[in-house]
Amino acid sequence: MSTQVSDKLQQVRQRIAKACASVGRAADAVTLLAVSKTMPAQAVREAYAAGQLAFGENYIQEGVDKIAELADLPLQWHCIGPIQSNKTQLVAKHFGWVHSIDRLKIAERLSAQRPAHLPPLQVCLQVNVDGGANKSGVAPPDLLALAEAVAKLPNLQLRGLMTIPEPAENDTAARAVHRQAKELFDSLNAAGLKLDTLSMGMTADMEAAIAEGSTCVRVGTAIFGARPTAA
Ligand SMILES: *Cc1c(COP(=O)(O)O)cnc(C)c1O
Repeated sequence: MSTQVSDKLQQVRQRIAKACASVGRAADAVTLLAVSKTMPAQAVREAYAAGQLAFGENYIQEGVDKIAELADLPLQWHCIGPIQSNKTQLVAKHFGWVHSIDRLKIAERLSAQRPAHLPPLQVCLQVNVDGGANKSGVAPPDLLALAEAVAKLPNLQLRGLMTIPEPAENDTAARAVHRQAKELFDSLNAAGLKLDTLSMGMTADMEAAIAEGSTCVRVGTAIFGARPTAA
């Protein structure tokens, strides 16, 4: 399996480099977050051996268990899944980044619960750009107010936005949604926030996301293979 993970990782790096080159962006303008949800710790070790340091987890308890199992490695852990109030303490203690903040109450709890010996939690706001009704994410009209409030919290550092668009029918449609996210991102910076992270693009749409300005793609399937169940 180890050659498999390292080969796939190499292929994903090539996809990113090619997508950057095709729109004239520097190859290091986009970072790769390896999404290891549902995958065993051993798969993370294999990716680490192939040079991958940043990993994303959706399910908090699963992520915390994996973080503990892999505490011997210098990994950077990103929480990218929905966060209920009763899980904020685990997130504040164990993760370095959170991409999935969509309400102030969760941000306030994370800031209050961030242990003093750790650097500020690096956070992105999840925004529901395409208006999917049953999806998490702040609605675009509410984004600026949330961003301004989160930016004031002492133990969080607001870094940017995350989007999870509905699967698009084609590349043109995917790019249109990603472009809207980039416009929101630019509008927050124009309003005086200092954001450097636009977390968008997954296995199916990383090229479209990169073409529209993504700075971080979150890739699971293309690195680790298909997940056991719909997750
Ligand atoms: C599962 C997941 C990913 C990775 O999706 P793939 O299609 O497997 O690359 C990225 N972001 C989030 C928020 C996810 O839940």
